[in-house]
Amino acid sequence: MDRVLLHTCCAPCSASAIPLLADKYKITTLWFNPNIFPEKEYLLRKQTWLSYSKLFDIETKEIEADWVGSEEKYGQLWLNKAIESDKGRCYYCYESRLEETARIAKKLSIYNFSTTLLSSPYQKHETIKKIAECLAEKYELNFIYIDPRKDFYAGVNSVKKIGLYSQRYCGCRISIR
Ligand code: SF4
Repeated sequence: MDRVLLHTCCAPCSASAIPLLADKYKITTLWFNPNIFPEKEYLLRKQTWLSYSKLFDIETKEIEADWVGSEEKYGQLWLNKAIESDKGRCYYCYESRLEETARIAKKLSIYNFSTTLLSSPYQKHETIKKIAECLAEKYELNFIYIDPRKDFYAGVNSVKKIGLYSQRYCGCRISIR
């Protein structure tokens, strides 16, 4: 079975994305989400993803955000970079997470990569697809495009049903508003 490195933003988005890949690929999920604020929320979403993955026996890898453990650094290390980006905050957010995914996929010799960012109807779906396709070319990998949006709410509800946490905002400090 071919392998895929699936960038995961959270368990609720994973719930609708994983079924679209599970029949054809051996999935490893990758946690890399330095956008999520505050630290308490970051750790809660990460723990929820770990619990969800354990429940469904999915292999996991994680890269910790470099500001974790010192919340005041968040402004300097993530949000400032995102705000200063000339392509816009969300573009920076997608690109930085997907670039790390492609880099790790290459390092692990996993040819295919994808992302649960495609699950949410609130995200800029076409932008995510375009960024991932450019990165696939740059890193000589295969980006697997999926569109789980129609099952997004069913996925969120399935996570809640098993007693796991489902968040109420996108992730960064600005999105809390
Ligand atoms: S709103 Fe969501 S996608 Fe946009 S920068 Fe914030 S966390 Fe990232």
